[in-house]
Amino acid sequence: MRTLDFDYFKNTVNAMRVDRVINRPVGIIGLARSGLAAAKLLKRLGGNPFVSDAKPESRLEKELAELKEAEIPFETGGHTDKLLEESEYLIVSPGVPKEIPILERAQEIGIPIFSELEVASWLCDANLAAVTGSNGKTTTTTLLGRIFETARIESTAAGNIGYAFSEVCDRISSRGWIALEVSSAQLERIFDFHPHIAIVLNLTPDHLDRYGTFEEYARVKMRVAENLTGVDFLIANADDDYLVQLVQPVEARKIFFSLEKKLESGIYLEDDKIVFHFGELQGDLGSRKDLSIPGPHNLYNAMAAGAAALAAGVSSDAIKETFKTFGGVEHRLEYVDTINGIRYINDSKGTNIDSVWYALQSVPENTILIMGGKYKGGELSRLNELIRQKIKHLILIGEAAETFHDAYKNIVPVGRAETLEDAVFSAADIGHDGDTVLLSPACASFDMFKDFEHRGQVFKDAVLKLKARNKE
Ligand code: ADP
Repeated sequence: MRTLDFDYFKNTVNAMRVDRVINRPVGIIGLARSGLAAAKLLKRLGGNPFVSDAKPESRLEKELAELKEAEIPFETGGHTDKLLEESEYLIVSPGVPKEIPILERAQEIGIPIFSELEVASWLCDANLAAVTGSNGKTTTTTLLGRIFETARIESTAAGNIGYAFSEVCDRISSRGWIALEVSSAQLERIFDFHPHIAIVLNLTPDHLDRYGTFEEYARVKMRVAENLTGVDFLIANADDDYLVQLVQPVEARKIFFSLEKKLESGIYLEDDKIVFHFGELQGDLGSRKDLSIPGPHNLYNAMAAGAAALAAGVSSDAIKETFKTFGGVEHRLEYVDTINGIRYINDSKGTNIDSVWYALQSVPENTILIMGGKYKGGELSRLNELIRQKIKHLILIGEAAETFHDAYKNIVPVGRAETLEDAVFSAADIGHDGDTVLLSPACASFDMFKDFEHRGQVFKDAVLKLKARNKE
């Protein structure tokens, strides 16, 4: 087996580091979207990828058909030693658990393990604006991508949305930009991933089942900034004290954003106006009222995307225009319909306590809240006050129903439903003209659904059924 020379690796400065790929046997663990995209990328560039997934063949039909078409070898139903014997390095997909035996053994033997994010970045000539944080990543990445489009910059948005990074990394030139959503799982295994702009939106407890402590989770998130230098930008939330502390030692040009205070240098509110002032740049991005996406959390997201766009050299006019027209992203506080005067809102992506906190900030009083699913941890009592103020009835679904019932039963009337569809129908029965029904589960979806998109779709289908029933 050939081994990788790490010194050579670290010192490679050519923009397209295809040497790390050409003719090299590489094992890819996990055949979800990014694993598949990485395999196809390596194959396309002359590498020898081999893919391994723990799932049986019957559950990977679509992905395997693509591998076969690209003539990429694979194994299913478990990871064999072939991976260790024949791979120069491994690429691990973000959905793969952190400590599985094959990874532990690879580590013992000294086989490097990288994330798809890391490997795709070797093969990327474009400028990267990497967006991370506990909540708001997809919204901010999508918005930044739209701003680049408005400004007619060669660009794309990628990561968890639309395209996997590996699908687009070598398709944008060195003049262009990729707005890239970056998860903590991808950051766990970077080496010299180096965005020109790194955005950390916020840090609140999430994925504690994977990381154990909040501090460890935050440390991994901050790795997005570990290869920045003095010419790069770090954009961070000034209202998050812990985050401010963590960014202190990072070497980069820092741009803070805030809803709470005027900053000496950064992006903040002056009355209702979003103003910026950093380096030589000074001006405004319009009124907060012109922003088409609702709620204070989205104002944070807009400030972060605006700051990144300004740092990339985009005009404030292009940013203002996009703020007015950007309608948000599906499953994030998405308005579905109004039936019998009751508004239905799909926030299936509200998968942790903090995101639900912001969702509740954005809805009126007399809201019926549907919550529950696979609980990931977090402090339930953080929602007490908002639930008391805004929620007239809570309907619980999924594995977490018991835990949530105990947490909120003394604050608000609580009911349970076997299915999400039943929950929507009960909400319709309880609700009156002027009420809102909000799905914002504070949980992962895997106990009942394929993913959060599936959950959101089931919610929207149930609302459609209600509408049809109403017309009968
Ligand atoms: P992510 O990609 O980080 O999961 P999304 O943009 O998909 O974030 O938004 C997920 C949910 O998180 C939204 O439905 C909303 O309720 C909440 N949210 C969005 N932006 C923020 C933010 N900046 N701070 C807190 N919560 C947010």
